[in-house]
Amino acid sequence: MKSNDVKKTAFLVNAVILTLVFGLMGFFIMCDADFLTYFSIPTAAVYVFGFFLISRDKLDIYVWMVYFWLTLYMGVTTLFLGYGYGFHLYCFSMIPVMFVTEYLSYKLHRRSMKAMTVSYIIAASYILCTGYVAYFGPLYERDQKYAAFFWIFNALIVFSFLIYYTNYMIKAVILSEEKLIEAAHIDRLTGLYNRHYMLDRLNSLPADEKQSLIAMADIDNFKHINDTYGHNGGDEVLKIIAQKLRSECKGCETARWGGEEFLILSEEPLPDGKAMLESLRRSVESETVSFEGEEITVTITIGMAVRDIDQEVEKWIQSADNKLYFGKNSGKNRVID
Ligand code: GH3
Ligand code: MG
Ligand code: MG
Repeated sequence: MKSNDVKKTAFLVNAVILTLVFGLMGFFIMCDADFLTYFSIPTAAVYVFGFFLISRDKLDIYVWMVYFWLTLYMGVTTLFLGYGYGFHLYCFSMIPVMFVTEYLSYKLHRRSMKAMTVSYIIAASYILCTGYVAYFGPLYERDQKYAAFFWIFNALIVFSFLIYYTNYMIKAVILSEEKLIEAAHIDRLTGLYNRHYMLDRLNSLPADEKQSLIAMADIDNFKHINDTYGHNGGDEVLKIIAQKLRSECKGCETARWGGEEFLILSEEPLPDGKAMLESLRRSVESETVSFEGEEITVTITIGMAVRDIDQEVEKWIQSADNKLYFGKNSGKNRVID
């Protein structure tokens, strides 16, 4: 959420609360609850002042003020009307709201409110007010004909807050976990898997008779490409080769193994793995990479190895590496099986 969105949401929430305060004030007038009617005046003033704080970007002060006043309002209404009206229920919804606020403050690098501490204060206020009412009874002995309406209305609002904020929090956690996993598994330049991910993936494969295949592909004379077209030119070549790997090696998993070295894995045996890799090699050779008006010619050398039964991953990789090494020493731009 951007800072401006947070401000807009705060404006909206403040407007909703202020409307509710006036609605409740009308109700208190109707049932001659004098103290609560007068109490509604500073309450309304708090939320009018809230608009000022939001517009001045003083969101942290606004949030503290609202939570303090909501807790007070909940306490006072519960003490006066008893808990048959359901005002005390707001305590439950305020707790997830506060944790979300702390999370958003952290994301926006704003001063954070301590949701844990405030939660304890709210829990204590709840226990004190409801405990008092349970023992002594409410200060106003009103007939309970409106209580059911308020109970349902307040419970609906409280549940809406609980569901919305808890759902928001869990979605935010899932999204950030997905981003972290992606950042940990994906190479940023090429968008391919990185070496760590691929190594884990290889280690997870069973060394049975499945005949999985890996191929190690290395760009030929890449240092020369860097020297001629600069590092950015080299990077562009890496991105284009990565795209080719993805499009030519369908059904395979591809990773950037090192600087200009790629690993291709086919877990399922390929009837003609060498033909696929040949086609990849030809495709790289036949198309130049455009960079700042220049056309860069690129070739790759590939060493492939089918896994033997019970072969260790390290030996399997070594075998593909040896083939690659052989290809490099015998003219480059070749596929060796
Ligand atoms: P060969 O044909 O034998 O593979 O030779 P080569 O020049 O491709 O291999 P060498 O290992 O001598 O050089 C690889 C170069 O790749 C050196 C390094 O600076 C460059 N390199 C590594 N990572 C990156 C990168 O992310 N971007 C760019 N532009 N260059 C990189
Ligand atoms: Mg190279
Ligand atoms: Mg290399």
